[in-house]
Amino acid sequence: MTTNELSESAGASRRALVTGGAGFLGSHLCERLLGNGYEVIAMDNLLTGSLGNIEHLAGNDRFHFIRQDVTEFIHVPGPLDLILHFASPASPVDYQELPIQTLKVGALGTHKTLGLAKEKGATFLLASTSEVYGDPLEHPQREEYWGNVNPVGPRGVYDEAKRFAEAMTMAYYRYHDVDTRIVRIFNTYGPRMRLNDGRALPAFISQALRGEPVTVFGDGLQTRSFCFVADLVTGILRLADSGIHTPVNIGNPAEISILEFARTVIRLTGSKSEIIHRDLPEDDPKVRQPDIGRARSLLDWEPQVELTDGLEVSIPYFEEQLNGRA
Ligand code: UDP
Repeated sequence: MTTNELSESAGASRRALVTGGAGFLGSHLCERLLGNGYEVIAMDNLLTGSLGNIEHLAGNDRFHFIRQDVTEFIHVPGPLDLILHFASPASPVDYQELPIQTLKVGALGTHKTLGLAKEKGATFLLASTSEVYGDPLEHPQREEYWGNVNPVGPRGVYDEAKRFAEAMTMAYYRYHDVDTRIVRIFNTYGPRMRLNDGRALPAFISQALRGEPVTVFGDGLQTRSFCFVADLVTGILRLADSGIHTPVNIGNPAEISILEFARTVIRLTGSKSEIIHRDLPEDDPKVRQPDIGRARSLLDWEPQVELTDGLEVSIPYFEEQLNGRA
C-alpha cells in the first residue's frame, strides 16, 4: 500500500461528510467510502439530488442522511475527518434554471462547509470543475491555465461560483491552516445521472433508446472528454489522501467530438435514431480535454475504463429508468 491509498483502506472509525450526497457523484462517493470502512453522512437539500440514489445505502448503520441546504449554518454532531463538498446544480440546464441557488451554494455553501472543516479539524475537498477554464484558449487544459470565462454569460453563475469557491478554499488553507484539496472535475458519466439533466450523455442515450432524433447542438465538432464515474471516484479519494493543496484535474483525456459521441451512443444502443442539429447554446466551450499530468505523477492515477466499456455499463441503467417511467 502507498500512502496515497489511505481512503482505500484505513476508513475504520473515520467519519466523512459528503455534501450533495444524494447526487450523481456524491452518491458514488458515499458508496465507495462506506465500502472502505468509513462512517458516512450524506447531506443534501434534494434540489437536484434524489433519495433514489442512496436508498440502497439506507440499511447500512454507518450511513446517515441529513436533509439540509448547506448555505445555512451546518451542525454535525461528533467528529469529522473528511468533508467532500459536492453540493451544487452541475449540468448547464440545471444551473441556468437555478442560477441563484448555484451562486449561493458555490459561495455561501463553500464558506459554511469550510467553517465546519475548520471547527472539526477535518480535511476539506472542494468539487471544482473544468468550467473554471471557460471556453479555453489553451488546449488541453493544465491546472496552471487561468481560463477564459464570461462572468455575465449564462454559464457565469456556475463558472464564477466555482472560481469563488476555489479562492475561498485557498484562503482557508492559507489563513486558517485548513487541510484543503481542490479537484477540477471534467465531464463524467455513469449510472445515477439524471435522465433529464440536459447533458449530452443522458439526452443522447434516452433519445436513442426511445428511437427519437438525437439532438446535436451546433455542428457537433465541439469536443469533450468523458470519464467513467468509478475512475473519477478513485482519483478523488487519492487526492483526498495526498496532501496536495493546489488544484488537480481529474478526467479522462480521451477527447471526442459531440457528433462522434452521438454516433457511438446510437451504435451501442442499437438504435435507428437519426441525428438532428439544434442551435449551439451561448458560450458553449469549443474544446475540452484535461491535461492529467499532475494526477499521473502526484497521485499515480489515470482512468482505466474505455468510453465504450463505460457506456455498456451505463446504458442498461438508463434503460431501466426509462422503463420505470413508462
Ligand atoms: N449537447 C448536445 N445535445 C444535447 C445536449 C448537449 O449536442 O442534447 C452538447 C453541448 O452543446 C456541449 C456538449 O454536448 O457542446 C456537452 O454538453 P453537456 O451539457 O453534457 O455539458 P458541458 O460539457 O457543456 O458542460
